[in-house]
Amino acid sequence: MDLQALKKLTDTYQQTHEMPVLFVGHGSPMNGIEDNVYSRSWRELGKQLPQPLAVLVISAHWLTRGTHVTAMEQPRTIHDFGGFPQELFEVEYPVPGSLPIALETKQIITSTHVGLDHDWGLDHGSWTVVRHMYPDAQIPVLQLSIDYNKPAAYHYELARELSALRKKGVLIMGSGNMVHNLRMIAWEHMHKPEYGYDWALSMNEAFKKNMLERTHQNLIQYERLGSAAALAIPTPDHYYPLLYTLGLQSEKDQVQFFNDKAVGGSLTMTSAIFSK
Ligand code: ZN
Repeated sequence: MDLQALKKLTDTYQQTHEMPVLFVGHGSPMNGIEDNVYSRSWRELGKQLPQPLAVLVISAHWLTRGTHVTAMEQPRTIHDFGGFPQELFEVEYPVPGSLPIALETKQIITSTHVGLDHDWGLDHGSWTVVRHMYPDAQIPVLQLSIDYNKPAAYHYELARELSALRKKGVLIMGSGNMVHNLRMIAWEHMHKPEYGYDWALSMNEAFKKNMLERTHQNLIQYERLGSAAALAIPTPDHYYPLLYTLGLQSEKDQVQFFNDKAVGGSLTMTSAIFSK
């Protein structure tokens, strides 16, 4: 699609829609090929949400110095994991990228320089989810990287600058996990549905409460939320995508939760849609 055609389309969109914002708990890469409660919910989302012009994913698995947006025509499917069945390594999700939307993303972020990336592609934080949402692989997918040298508040503020993209038909999705402590996974309880340690369940409730009450400062300053928060967020890679979606929440957006479940003790799949 050339720039002119995109502009026409996005102008139409501007008058009619504002895309919701999504936070998705992606969990195990196996969700990319399994037919389970999570992958089914993602398929349903793809059917229920207004059809986007493109999807822009902020994935827990693309941590960089500086901020970059993928700008290639054909992003590769990155198999950034180990120890999974061959079948998962063979998955390709052949979606197009979108240079016009990459350029637009770069342009609307004025607080920092955004680099156009031609090397990355789609890591499993994005393709394991989006391939279920849009199995036809027709909707362009881009990723925005997380500058891992920057603190939580930086990511929240940066996200606010992205909000104009919603009016242009871009579905922005943070992909991580609110509670994510792989070292403490209870492998013996992995197949017990919805098994969560007490601290994981209590943090899950605390995250949701702060989101419902819009006390975003508490979520930005998560280190002050006590010892359960330290267990839930041992490193912030899977948490920062949530802060992007909170930064994008407008005053009129309501939050709805889905996949509100714990897995393997120390992980939650809790996900959220922000929409009017
Ligand atoms: Zn992950």
